[in-house]
Amino acid sequence: MARYRGPVCKLCRREGLKLFLKGTRCIDKNKCSIEKRKNPPGLPPKRKGKISDFSIQLREKQKVKRIYGVLEKQFREYYEKANRTEGITGELLLQLLEQRLDNVIYRMKFATSRIQARSFISHGHVIVNGIRVTIPSYQVSVGDKISFRENFFKSTTFTDNIKLAQSLNSSPAWLSPDYANYTGEVTSIPSRENIDLPIKEHIIVELYSK
Ligand code: SF4
Repeated sequence: MARYRGPVCKLCRREGLKLFLKGTRCIDKNKCSIEKRKNPPGLPPKRKGKISDFSIQLREKQKVKRIYGVLEKQFREYYEKANRTEGITGELLLQLLEQRLDNVIYRMKFATSRIQARSFISHGHVIVNGIRVTIPSYQVSVGDKISFRENFFKSTTFTDNIKLAQSLNSSPAWLSPDYANYTGEVTSIPSRENIDLPIKEHIIVELYSK
């Protein structure tokens, strides 16, 4: 499974936006490199003159790829699938990304980042409908029940995540986590309103439809 392995805060600085890639560090203002320094290193240089449409489209695409931790080839496949499906392509693209198992684990707050969720899955800790799933890009469907291997309940990382999740209590409306039983259910397909990310998906569609 190919994925980006470089420094992740650098990605936030490049996009000039908090992408929440580092778990609990991201919610601590004193630890987030974008928040703790007024002029963090690695910010893109301020450009003089007009920024081209292509440049704007490219940045939007890169931002979404980085949020979901998807590389170009796979992102393109999501776009192609969304484009073949009836409906608004940009919204369908985001729906497909949201339905990735690593995103669902993160959204339910069982993991503090999509990167951590991916590691839980690839290490075999995640069970979907009673079967162990080790593919982070697995697409969940309505009614899918997520649980974890029993011996994983005792891990400090997982118990800390559960405590944090209970205190935040902020899972999106299309997911229903049950922290007391370490389970969760996909109750509906995410609508655009459920995806609270600063993304202009139509710009990405413009880029790919050239
Ligand atoms: Fe981005 Fe999190 Fe690093 Fe802040 S701490 S720059 S939000 S990855």
